[in-house]
Amino acid sequence: MSSKLHFYNTVTRKKEEFVPANPPFVGMYVCGPTVYGDAHLGHARSAITFDIVYRYLKHLGYKVRYVRNITDVGHLENDADHGEDKIAKKARLEQLEPMEVVQYYKDRYHRDMDALNNNRPSIEPQASGHIIEQIAMTQSLLDKGFAYVSNGSVYFDVEKYAEKHHYGKLSGRKIEDLQSSSRELDGQEEKRSSLDFALWKKASPEHIMRWPSPWSDGFPGWHIECSVMSSKYLGDTFDIHGGGMDLLFPHHECEIAQSVGANGEEPVRYWLHNNMITLNGQKMAKSLGNTIMLHEFFSGQNPLLERAYEPLTIRFFILQAHYRSTLDFGNDALLAAQKGYSKLRTALASARALSIVWASEDKAVEEKLQRWTSECETAMNDDMNTSLTIATLFEMASYINGLKNAQESNIPSKAQFDRVIGLFATYFEDVLGLGSATTDSGSADTLKDVMAVLLELRNSAKAKKDYGTADAIRDQLKAVGITIMDGKDGADWQLDA
Ligand code: ZN
Repeated sequence: MSSKLHFYNTVTRKKEEFVPANPPFVGMYVCGPTVYGDAHLGHARSAITFDIVYRYLKHLGYKVRYVRNITDVGHLENDADHGEDKIAKKARLEQLEPMEVVQYYKDRYHRDMDALNNNRPSIEPQASGHIIEQIAMTQSLLDKGFAYVSNGSVYFDVEKYAEKHHYGKLSGRKIEDLQSSSRELDGQEEKRSSLDFALWKKASPEHIMRWPSPWSDGFPGWHIECSVMSSKYLGDTFDIHGGGMDLLFPHHECEIAQSVGANGEEPVRYWLHNNMITLNGQKMAKSLGNTIMLHEFFSGQNPLLERAYEPLTIRFFILQAHYRSTLDFGNDALLAAQKGYSKLRTALASARALSIVWASEDKAVEEKLQRWTSECETAMNDDMNTSLTIATLFEMASYINGLKNAQESNIPSKAQFDRVIGLFATYFEDVLGLGSATTDSGSADTLKDVMAVLLELRNSAKAKKDYGTADAIRDQLKAVGITIMDGKDGADWQLDA
């Protein structure tokens, strides 16, 4: 395996070495949420996948401009070009302004993503703030003959585009197959072909979210916002475009067509797509009644859940699988993830508190360190293989625990052990983002780390028969509302009610 970073590029269907156009700068655009409801596990997987790409690129020394949009207009109910705007519908049902709905769910999306320890993007543009640019790109597509006006709406002319360019290059769909499978226009007589998609829609009288344009009072189609906002902030050609696999067709295919049509250039150099999450083998869908919102995982308030799970357990669960594999959720899998995560986290905390008789520089430890370093790099360079990186962290955790329990024969020097901690922390905290989040749930995580350190100190005091110190730690913790419980497998603790 090469030591250089490779991504699987959806458009070429192979792993390619990542060479940014203008190093050390990297432009990355990710399709964000439509904010008319709470975020679920699928949102978490996409955000975590591209947070890892962002973190690892920064780890390698790149300067990343990470743009992730908020869709707050133009996403119609049936994801085609008719039906009610999802946000406007929610606003009508709850008697709110559409922008109140947007603000409410955007805040909640941020809260959930922060809890999962995802970095916020460098720029988070909203579709409704870029109407002028969307009108301009639509006009440019009209000027170049790739679009037509029909009854106040503007549609992209897919067949016209396909005469000069390859429509279907991303999804692998063939235009002839698409034509034969969707000959019915489905009541959308405004379109010349069922393949065409809306760039601008004339608003019906009851449609609340509307803006003036040269063609009608209306609103932009769903796909045009991403072409507009990516080129505005990253240029006509940029390095990475990410999103969930469910967006590959039609959304990303349409983005390519719009950008190539308007700017004459391929917009994206590397297309990355994360796979979906299933629940007991079944796709999660509102209609199946099996979607679980992230805040329900955190609180345990969902009949499908046996208990509440810490946000970082969810993050760990997602990172245990490669982002291009499907990932099946179930309570057993999450419980296993919680155990695994806790093992790694405790190992790091005990490593930081470890106090043993250090040896002089040990050759076997040196070999281990070099192998672990190379395994972590190779795994991450191979299209972000977080699953293999985690396997190496488990091996390091076993080594740390061996030292702690005096069962390890390769005793390191202090300097070597500091490098073990440094390597572990680099991947566990910086690259995988599994250290403490900086939110409320993060302070709970910090408390756990602090308690692990205190219990470790108390253990070593006991081992040295320094019962005065051991008891003082126990009594002073009791005074601040924390009870220590000594058991066969060591001490545990709980917050007093
Ligand atoms: Zn998009």
